[in-house]
Amino acid sequence: YGPAPEANAEILAWLAARPRFGHFIDGEHADPAEGGHFEVRNPATGALLAEVAQGSAADIDAAVAAAKAALAPWQALSGHARARYLYALARLLQKRERFFAVLETMDNGKPIRESRDIDIPLVVRHFYHHAGWAELIESEFPQHRPVGVCGQIVPWNFPLLMLAWKVAPALAAGNTVVLKPAEFTPLSALAFAELCREAGLPQGVVNIVTGDGRTGALLVEHPDVDKIAFTGSTEVGRLIRKATAGTGKKLGLELGGKSPFIVFDDADLDAAVEGVVDSIWFNQGQVCCAGSRLLVQEAVADRLIGKLKARMETLRVGDPLDKSTDVGAIVDTVQLERIRSLVEAGRAEGAVCHQLGAPLPKEGLYFPPTLVTGVGPASTLAQEEIFGPVLVAMTFRTQAEAIELANNSRYGLAASVWSENINVALDAAARLKAGVVWINAANLFDAAAGFGGYRESGFGREGGREGLADYLVPAADVTEAKPVRL
Ligand code: NAD
Repeated sequence: YGPAPEANAEILAWLAARPRFGHFIDGEHADPAEGGHFEVRNPATGALLAEVAQGSAADIDAAVAAAKAALAPWQALSGHARARYLYALARLLQKRERFFAVLETMDNGKPIRESRDIDIPLVVRHFYHHAGWAELIESEFPQHRPVGVCGQIVPWNFPLLMLAWKVAPALAAGNTVVLKPAEFTPLSALAFAELCREAGLPQGVVNIVTGDGRTGALLVEHPDVDKIAFTGSTEVGRLIRKATAGTGKKLGLELGGKSPFIVFDDADLDAAVEGVVDSIWFNQGQVCCAGSRLLVQEAVADRLIGKLKARMETLRVGDPLDKSTDVGAIVDTVQLERIRSLVEAGRAEGAVCHQLGAPLPKEGLYFPPTLVTGVGPASTLAQEEIFGPVLVAMTFRTQAEAIELANNSRYGLAASVWSENINVALDAAARLKAGVVWINAANLFDAAAGFGGYRESGFGREGGREGLADYLVPAADVTEAKPVRL
């Protein structure tokens, strides 16, 4: 890795050989039926990376038909046989970790250290983990069967990881899928399609149709789709819930968040500062479970804020392909404008913004790490998901006040609690309305742990036993009913 272009020659050669991508339908490259192509650019440089197909109704029809036709033979395989494909995919992904890390960073703008050390290893882990589940499915879920054709729609913040969260359990449980990547970051999904061929995955088991929200809506509405799994904004989640209401489709929604990061006065403040860095400046804050609300006990507030400001000055914002970069580029101009306008709205409400002093790169889409103080719990910045590197700090006096502030949100995805007293931490964790609570840690994920939210953060879980169960339905009871004689 490194800023030198030749270091990434492999990716550039791969892209040069594929200036225009089609969809991946029934195991084959498929040109778009009518939608044409759109451009995908590197947010750090503005360079054109590729042109990608805009999926139309005809493309979605073809992909769903392929997934439907593939269902019976895929389900006829034993769990052991399906596991072999998942192991093969895991091994291929592992072999190409470097390739996928660089591709993801070029497409999304996230620092290479994160895609190399977090995103791609977790992707691999998800495939290995679910290969294990495929082997166990008949014994662990004897009275269940796969849902059928799964329509999966993913966001741009963790493009390949969100694909893995969805595709791996779906396949382990015996489903087939049509996945639509986000329009800003479709490249790793298209590279994954090539691995499916290489792994010899039966045709039609995985189909990838690229495009924007219109393509996603067509997938949601398709009558032959049995389940929709969506990760993205609460706004679009609401539209999808309406569109599936009254249909027989199963639905899982992983939506937005405004997660509290609570620091009690007995916490290890230096560790908490590192936790904040991992929580809100990881992936430029474009993380659904980002700890975007810092709630700190009054007695240590000044000390913590002082330490945080000093730590902010050491953050390196810049070229995502540089190994020493901490904060990379924002994914797209639309997202950058959204962050800017929310911060401006906060300033107009009286927010005080402390920003990194070092200048930002002249080229590319960047927003400085920002610490906001002087706002109340009802303010725009304390309530709205910013989805950028913007941390809003507020103080509390008592534990009860901390919990009340933390739960004062329409979201309920994650929370992080910092205290050296395990009783204080566990007691707080039990009273937080959040799907995931980390103690003295933040943003830890594992394929074996279910992830998902409460309230407007959605419902359903991904990962772990419960995530797998969401890809199954109870089977009809085939035992013969015996008349009961009294
Ligand atoms: P988004 O909702 O705009 O887009 C997500 C996906 O939905 C994209 O693929 C998009 O093309 C598609 N889409 C857009 N309109 C659609 C429609 N009407 N019907 C069907 N599909 C449609 O979200 P985004 O901006 O890509 O991602 C950011 C959001 O995702 C944030 O709110 C974040 O919190 C959330 N997120 C949640 C989780 C989680 O696990 N809870 C994880 C990552 C991101």
